[in-house]
Amino acid sequence: MFFRSVVMFMVIAIVPLFIMRGILLASVKDKLYSERVDNIRQHSNALVAQMIDKNYFQGENKDVIHNQISQLANIYDGRIVVIDSSYKVLRDSYFRIFGKTVISKEAFQSMQGEEIWRYNGQTDMVEMAQPVIDDGGVVLGVMLISSSTATRTAAYLHIKRISTWIVGGISIVLIGIAFFFSREHSKPFRELAKTINYIAEGHFDEKVHLKGYTEIVQISNAFNKMLGRLKTLEDSRQEFVSNVSHELKTPITSIKVLADSLNMQPDAPKELYQEFMHDIVEEIDRENQIITDLLSLVKMDKKSDVLNISSVNINELMELILKRLRPIAGKRNIELAFESFRTVIANVDEVKITQAFTNLIENAIKYNVAGGWVQVSLDMDHTYFYVQVSDSGIGIPQEYQDKIFDRFYRVDKARSRETGGTGLGLAITKNIILMHNGNIKVKSKEEEGSTFTVRIPLVEDNQEV
Ligand code: ADP
Repeated sequence: MFFRSVVMFMVIAIVPLFIMRGILLASVKDKLYSERVDNIRQHSNALVAQMIDKNYFQGENKDVIHNQISQLANIYDGRIVVIDSSYKVLRDSYFRIFGKTVISKEAFQSMQGEEIWRYNGQTDMVEMAQPVIDDGGVVLGVMLISSSTATRTAAYLHIKRISTWIVGGISIVLIGIAFFFSREHSKPFRELAKTINYIAEGHFDEKVHLKGYTEIVQISNAFNKMLGRLKTLEDSRQEFVSNVSHELKTPITSIKVLADSLNMQPDAPKELYQEFMHDIVEEIDRENQIITDLLSLVKMDKKSDVLNISSVNINELMELILKRLRPIAGKRNIELAFESFRTVIANVDEVKITQAFTNLIENAIKYNVAGGWVQVSLDMDHTYFYVQVSDSGIGIPQEYQDKIFDRFYRVDKARSRETGGTGLGLAITKNIILMHNGNIKVKSKEEEGSTFTVRIPLVEDNQEV
């Protein structure tokens, strides 16, 4: 970015400067030489008039005219050659080619009545060819004038030198400015890159504080926001890992304690062995349950876990779940009721949805009071079907209602453990519902009971808004 902006600055500022200098120099050069030609023309016009007047081409007054030719050649530090209409040299101020025939492009062109001039860089002279035309419009001859422009060229070179210094100086200043501004402009980005690298090394507590243009501040704010999310994710990942380790360790510790105490009592009675072995099996079951729950969560986290969608009669599915759970509810004398307003057929993953609703109804039984009730209701509209699981249980304090869907979160750890909970049930349930583009809400009051409401699209494609 730094070099790109330096180059851009140069293209925008310095290149036009050089182009301008070139145009100016060309126009100065043209002006200097054409002015010289104008001066010569003023005098040569007078001479041409004299030549016609004094019948020079008819062979009269030669001395007078030759004198004037020499004078004019002296004034302009040059040479004058006069040729007649048959291209024969009548006069050469250098006395070199008298009587010879001159055939040049300029002479020929001028003989057609045209005045021409050009600057000859090799000799540093302006060369003119001026026709001598009488009153009747007949071209009598041509005056070829060449005049030294050494002083004008010197002036031009001086101007060129000065302009080179000026443009060079301005360019150096501009390059300096370009470097300075480009450095200033790219500074926040360099700082951002530095901070990102630092954060990438694992310093998630770092924040970016960039000042300057609005865009830079916006980038900085957006980056900090993203960082905040990353940090939350990283925190929850770490918390998850430590929770997993802890949860997996608890049954192992119990098993070890039980096994150790049996080891230390070789003469322990058979009943004690049986009792301890029973406890060990329970702990192994628990460990197994945690691992199964964890695996199903991890599998769902990976986007590769696809839903196995089929058309399912939700009423029948609910009846089946309740039938399976009734014995557990019966143990604590809890009444399980199902109320359905209409037959609901939905496109869902039957296995996963069964797991989700089983978790909800199981919880309603687990966190209930003896002799309480659980009410499950099913309804639908054009787009969604709704399942409500209400219970007369212990309820969930307001401040924990958001957290119960987090992995391993349990309001009362001891109670959850007693009932064989892993703290993963609601996390799994929520994941399954989200996979179906649905949502889940909870309303609860301590000591009174809880109501979980689930809304799921009847057809898979309906997106959650
Ligand atoms: P667990 O295996 O502990 O049941 P869940 O993820 O299913 O884990 O539930 C998380 C926590 O939410 C439970 O430990 C419990 O504290 C609370 N909870 C869930 N359902 C209910 C309910 N119906 N009534 C009261 N508390 C509930």
